[in-house]
Amino acid sequence: MTSAARRGASAALLLAVAAAAGGAGCGGRDRFAAPATVVGETCASCGMEVRNPRYMAASVAAGRVRPYDSIECAMKEAAPVAPRGHRILYLADYATGTLHHADSLWVVRAKIPSPMGAGLAAFLDRAEAERVAAAREGTVSPASVLFAPAGAAR
Ligand SMILES: [Zn+2]
Repeated sequence: MTSAARRGASAALLLAVAAAAGGAGCGGRDRFAAPATVVGETCASCGMEVRNPRYMAASVAAGRVRPYDSIECAMKEAAPVAPRGHRILYLADYATGTLHHADSLWVVRAKIPSPMGAGLAAFLDRAEAERVAAAREGTVSPASVLFAPAGAAR
């Protein structure tokens, strides 16, 4: 049996890998944080000023922020632009007017006076989203489904 020798060899390999990984350095700075707000900026899709924090949205790609005045404007841009993972999307929580990663939000399409008229608003709290959808004759879907490439939903 040569298992002792093999164990020794793999231990040496592990050490080499660990040393190489250590050389890459560590630092939390390369992780891009969500912008706090984009109010006052110009919508990258329709060119209107972002006025209402409840409907604002933003996408971040390669460290650059593109602001939107509405979820529908963010959809217009994000849907056709493909490779997922390249672009990080943030939508405002309607209740608080703060931006959050789109994956954690529920989008209501209802009789809501959103800036571009599509009636879209996003919610962190699913129960709140259901409540608003019921009161305003709308529907609720996860933002991740709404922004999925190539229409599963129309
Ligand atoms: Zn817009």
